[in-house]
Amino acid sequence: MKILSVNAGSSSLKFQVYEMPEEEVLISGVFERIGIGNSFYTIKINGEKIKKEINLDNHEQAFKILVDELIENKIVNDLNEIAGVGHRIVQGGESFNKSVVIDDDVIAKIKEYTPLAPLHNPAGISGILASKNVIPNAIQVAVFDTAFHTTMEEENYLYALPKSFYKDYGIRKYGYHGTSHKYVSMRMNEILGRDDTKLITCHIGNGGSISAVKNGKCIDTSMGLTPNAGLIMGSRSGDIDATIVLYLEKQGLSADEIDDILNKKSGLLGISGVSSDSRDIEDGIKENNKDCILAQKMYVKKIVEYIAKYYVELGGCDAIVFTAGVGENSTSTRKDVIDSLAVLGIKIDDERNNVRGKEAKISSDDSSVLCYVIPTDEEVMIARDTYSFI
Ligand code: ADP
Repeated sequence: MKILSVNAGSSSLKFQVYEMPEEEVLISGVFERIGIGNSFYTIKINGEKIKKEINLDNHEQAFKILVDELIENKIVNDLNEIAGVGHRIVQGGESFNKSVVIDDDVIAKIKEYTPLAPLHNPAGISGILASKNVIPNAIQVAVFDTAFHTTMEEENYLYALPKSFYKDYGIRKYGYHGTSHKYVSMRMNEILGRDDTKLITCHIGNGGSISAVKNGKCIDTSMGLTPNAGLIMGSRSGDIDATIVLYLEKQGLSADEIDDILNKKSGLLGISGVSSDSRDIEDGIKENNKDCILAQKMYVKKIVEYIAKYYVELGGCDAIVFTAGVGENSTSTRKDVIDSLAVLGIKIDDERNNVRGKEAKISSDDSSVLCYVIPTDEEVMIARDTYSFI
């Protein structure tokens, strides 16, 4: 049975087609620059990558081309062979603690949460509507980034603001990257051979978040009302004193300007002045660039701070998992983080740590806590959840 897994961004559409339940990827690709000119798409099939330039005004046009490609490449003979389409939706608030089949009420709820994910939720809805039009007979399923975090207790998700703000404005910690934290924690439990585990999952990419996962359930996570909380990220500040915002406002900056600074001009980019990409920061460190050295120090410190906090919150830890772009590939960031945890008896094995993009144990045999690299796979989670409804 064929399942299509999609992730619609404001100007992009990533997709994979799976043969289920085997979880075999038959074709994958991405449409880019939708609606902003110079659009193109790339597809990967049988180990080959093909790029085509084509005008794409909206997500529906991308879906139509996607379907043509599926037929042309003989992935399906007929559209009805696609039994389900799973959509990544970033913000599902408190309404969705698991994936759901999409109906008009679900779409209305996703719209309702748009103020909390102003770029992502409208893109998700565009993807859903396009998919419903182009592949009308497939079951449409929404898979929420926030769902995995709905198991947090109120002492962990509330902010110490007047409590009415939670009721009146929905101000609370929601957390993000939930599908990834869920995937790697499930995989780690598989490796450990049991479910009664205490895990710290570190999704460190361009955006980054860390979760504390007890017995397969999230008890705390570093992102908050929005993704700009917790860790220092590529271009996001992460945790700062909230009143900095007021101070900047009094200096004459507008809300939009402050938003732009906190999300696009801060983090590794803000401190280094060089780049938001940790590869560039690593190159800068090799060239002895002082601001890159400082940026990396601050970046690592924040990761260590959250791991230490969750170690205490969990009452110990069976395994720390590293995933996403930096977590899977940056041997030096992993080493800096684990070396900083030496006081807890956590130790890296440098030879094992010499791994990129592959599942591997990286802690030494005498480490008090197992450390693993587990490549994330949010797409297969979307396909699995979609398949579960059929
Ligand atoms: P996103 O949050 O956009 O999904 P990813 O998880 O794809 O991000 O991570 C992208 C980031 O991973 C890049 O910006 C880069 O900083 C980092 N990265 C990728 N490959 C490497 C590498 N080999 N070494 C260090 N960092 C890497």
